[in-house]
Amino acid sequence: MTACEGCENGRISATESFGSVDGPGIRFIVFLQGCRYRCLYCHNPETWALTGGYEAAPEEILRQALRYRPYWKQMGGITVSGGEPLLQIPFVTALFRRAKERGVSTVIDTAGEPFTRDEPFFSAFAQLLPLTDLFLLDLKHIDAAKHTALVGASNEQPLALARFLSERGKRMWIRHVLVPGWTTGADDLRRLSDFIAGLRSVARVEVLPYHAMARHKYEAMNLPYRLGDTPAPTAEEIARAEEILRVGDYTGYLH
Ligand code: SF4
Repeated sequence: MTACEGCENGRISATESFGSVDGPGIRFIVFLQGCRYRCLYCHNPETWALTGGYEAAPEEILRQALRYRPYWKQMGGITVSGGEPLLQIPFVTALFRRAKERGVSTVIDTAGEPFTRDEPFFSAFAQLLPLTDLFLLDLKHIDAAKHTALVGASNEQPLALARFLSERGKRMWIRHVLVPGWTTGADDLRRLSDFIAGLRSVARVEVLPYHAMARHKYEAMNLPYRLGDTPAPTAEEIARAEEILRVGDYTGYLH
């Protein structure tokens, strides 16, 4: 079942009460179903099908999240992740509208794949934009062909989303998963760094080192794990990528 036609319910994969890596502070993370990418390193293959998980109303998810509000302090709040949250904009918009009425911080963790300036997506996204405090945008590869090899589609949409958020002055953190042999090339990292430097509203750049901890999920789901024995990046590879990408916080975010 997909979420009900024309209503604001969402298809949820799971929730996490004390997320500490997907946005500022301690956050309630809502993992949504549905993603059209097939990243070789995806940690959440169980979220790929838009028909999976369970259906929930935005009020119910907000009610669950607010139980943890005492832990959020100044910085925490709600992050919607996935899967790909931008495949369920009516749900996310309804959830964030209610969250904002309660003064809750709202973050979207996206790979940008659904983004387009075409309708009906664009008008729906325009309504979500002012309700979202921060975007965590994964830029998986700056090279279109290598991006396609890594995730199964070109990087046109995520790059277009990055440019759009920059135009609108919308705060974003850029995240890059570092996979040895796939995303560690110095020239590609330099090109990515140049692209990021051209964006106006980047508040942070992060490198996320690859690890194979999700491999058991693929085995359980009878899916091939195509990264084989790819190792985690070494400390040197991480340090070099962090230097090239100028990892860090950008207060005032023009850099
Ligand atoms: S975009 Fe995210 S959810 Fe989709 S395949 Fe890639 S890592 Fe998995």
